[in-house]
Amino acid sequence: MPSPSLAELTTLRLGGPVAHLVVAATEADLVSAVREADDAGQPVLVVGGGSNLVVADAGFPGLVVQDGRRDLRFEGADGCGGAALTVTAGTPWGEVVDRAVDEGWVGVEALAGIPGSTGATPVQNVGAYGQEVAGVISTVRVWDRAESRIRLFPLTALEFGYRSSVLKRSMRGTDGAPSPFAPSPRYVVLEVSFQFRLGTLSAPIAYAQLATALGVAIGDRAPSVDVRHAVLELRASKGMVLDATDHDTWSAGSFFTNPVVAAEIADTLPDGAPRYPVRTAMPETSTGPSLGAIDPGLVKTSAAWLIEHAGFGRGFGLPGPVSLSTKHSLALTHRGGGSTSELLDLARTVRDGVSEAYGVTLEAEPVLVGVSL
Ligand SMILES: Cc1cc2nc3c(=O)[nH]c(=O)nc-3n(C[C@H](O)[C@H](O)[C@H](O)COP(=O)(O)OP(=O)(O)OC[C@H]3O[C@@H](n4cnc5c(N)ncnc54)[C@H](O)[C@@H]3O)c2cc1C
Repeated sequence: MPSPSLAELTTLRLGGPVAHLVVAATEADLVSAVREADDAGQPVLVVGGGSNLVVADAGFPGLVVQDGRRDLRFEGADGCGGAALTVTAGTPWGEVVDRAVDEGWVGVEALAGIPGSTGATPVQNVGAYGQEVAGVISTVRVWDRAESRIRLFPLTALEFGYRSSVLKRSMRGTDGAPSPFAPSPRYVVLEVSFQFRLGTLSAPIAYAQLATALGVAIGDRAPSVDVRHAVLELRASKGMVLDATDHDTWSAGSFFTNPVVAAEIADTLPDGAPRYPVRTAMPETSTGPSLGAIDPGLVKTSAAWLIEHAGFGRGFGLPGPVSLSTKHSLALTHRGGGSTSELLDLARTVRDGVSEAYGVTLEAEPVLVGVSL
């Protein structure tokens, strides 16, 4: 039987063969597969939906493990504490959003349409349209590969930031080089517990484009069902909802993070460049998401704006096998018949062009496996 390929496990549909694939049906199977590989000194790649992975054409030389469990456990709800839900890592994230919106639980309605597994959401603190998953997570239960034991991280220990967490940072050493656990975290997520505020109205809308689509002002609330619908429509128009028939969605989502730069650097950007406040991601209350404090020394700008204004418009690279999406300049896409090495060449061209034009170095958002920029 031919060995499975990472191209079959990733939304980019790129990446070479898998040496050893395990789809775990129980937590014990998941933990023992990871522990045995770690004890044998084999590299480990924990794969969820493969929607944030760029994998080498040579494939992966160790264990590739997927959590095959799908389980949402309702732990109870009351007017003071809100609704508590515990979800196994392998459960598709979309099921959590749908359950929350349908039940009248607030805080993830703007995160509809983000592909992948629930276990991966705390890794990079997924966010979109003014919400981040950090706003509703209460605890994350993990297998700690360094200490060979199960641990429970409360929200405060997860150190969430923009597309980052203690889990994501465990993939890097203090010198910035990959840690021995990369390309997966030191902590394998087993379950994520959420605490939602009760209500049929959304959290305050914090994203201008979404507010416009809903016909409300920033800071207003709207029915969560409407917010989910508007977000899915906005995302689809940008090729950000998976669709096997649409090559614009054969991507890893946004390829570059929005750069967070010192305020002095932001001052050197052209007037039209977007400038957003940088806030801490920690919620200020335990019963619902809220915006953190603004850091006056930092400014977040738009990677998409920089890319487009540096001369890389939508569809740049076509008719080649890899290109910028025709709907969104921030997504690098695979049009079929391409390779990871071609995708990375495109990424380098864009990164270097932005750096020359604006002196800002874009950083890759997806996890790079066996390759680098
Ligand atoms: C079309 C599209 C749109 C997207 N839009 C957004 C968006 O709006 N916002 C956003 O933040 N992201 C977005 N993404 C990126 C991606 O969907 C998220 O990062 C998602 O959480 C990745 O989940 P996954 O299960 O696919 O993880 P994978 O790609 O399988 O893995 C990503 C990383 O997480 C690790 N990981 C996976 N599961 C576990 C686990 N159980 N325990 C520990 N580590 C684990 C992996 O080892 C790897 O390091 C988008 C991607 C695509 C393709």
